[in-house]
Formats: sequence, C-alpha cells, structure tokens
Amino acid sequence: MKLSPKIKKIWKEAVKAQKFAYAPYSKFKVGAAFSSDGKIFAGCNVENASYGATICAERGAVLKALSEGHQKIEDLVVVTPTKKGAPPCALCLQVLSEFADPHLKIWIATSKAIHSQIRLKDLLTVPFLKKDLKNKTQ
Ligand SMILES: [Zn+2]
Repeated sequence: MKLSPKIKKIWKEAVKAQKFAYAPYSKFKVGAAFSSDGKIFAGCNVENASYGATICAERGAVLKALSEGHQKIEDLVVVTPTKKGAPPCALCLQVLSEFADPHLKIWIATSKAIHSQIRLKDLLTVPFLKKDLKNKTQ
C-alpha cells in the first residue's frame, strides 16, 4: 500500500502511543492517532479493574484533541497487536461520527504495516446524530 508522508507520520505516532497502553487485563495494546488542523493527536487504551471504565485508544485521542480545542478528525490510524489490524469498536465509531466526516479514512494497521483503509461511513452505516435528537415527539 502506497502511503503519503502524512499518513506515515500519523501511523508512527499511533505506534508510539500503543507502547503506552495500559492493558494489564486484556494484554491487547492499542494505539490510535489522527490529524486535526495540521496537528497529530494520539491515544492508547487505558483499562480499568472495573472493566466498564476502560477507555479505547481512539476515544482517548479524541478527548485529547477536543480538550486542546481541535474538533476536526482526519486520517485516523489504529494500531492493534493482531496480524492484519482491527477496526475501532462500535462505541468509538459512534464518538468519531460526532466530529468526523462520514468519509473519514480509517487506516487499519499494526506496528509493522498499514494493512487496509476503510471509511467511517462503511463501518458505521447509520450513526445516531444531533439531528436525531431534534426529531423527538414527546
Ligand atoms: Zn473503542
């Protein structure tokens, strides 16, 4: 797969973040990074003994960007410890849909290679959006 220097840079940051993952329970370390307004934001998964309080790498990166005033999400790279990479979970896709264009490119990667690319709209075909809140009848 031919990759632009920008994607390679985002991927490197995702791989770096993966190393900081706190995953003592699943041992499944994830790193994620994306571009926003020309800056790169990265996150890692942070597990919790309660399990339910665990935060994925993708949402960690989103919170980081938002807390620094950046709401745009472009070119998300997700790095997992698998053979061919893995997509974000449904919860993360929903959070991404709040800020990213449906055409957001999601790059599925490992620390060794970027294996594929898929659009947000193809992973989450019908997100719940702001407009759905406006449709309430009672
Ligand atoms: Zn997730």
